[in-house]
Amino acid sequence: MKRDKSLIIWAGIVTMLVVISCGHKHASNRTSAAPEIAYFCPMDSMINEAKSGHCTVCGMNLIKNPNYTGEELIEVVITSTGDTLVN
Ligand SMILES: [Zn+2]
Repeated sequence: MKRDKSLIIWAGIVTMLVVISCGHKHASNRTSAAPEIAYFCPMDSMINEAKSGHCTVCGMNLIKNPNYTGEELIEVVITSTGDTLVN
């Protein structure tokens, strides 16, 4: 019976370690995203945008994806006075 108890404890420790290491691996803080994603929210994995801005979920500034292989989307605004603003 004593052996059974220690087995259960070990199983618990192993489970805890797996959960801890797994949680670390899949931390919500993203530093990169898929190559087709230009900007992403580091906190919300479902927020992926083609241009910079704010996350619609948490309001954080979107981060430029270092893995992005596509073309930079540049927003050009021509004002009524004829000035060209490049964001
Ligand atoms: Zn967010």
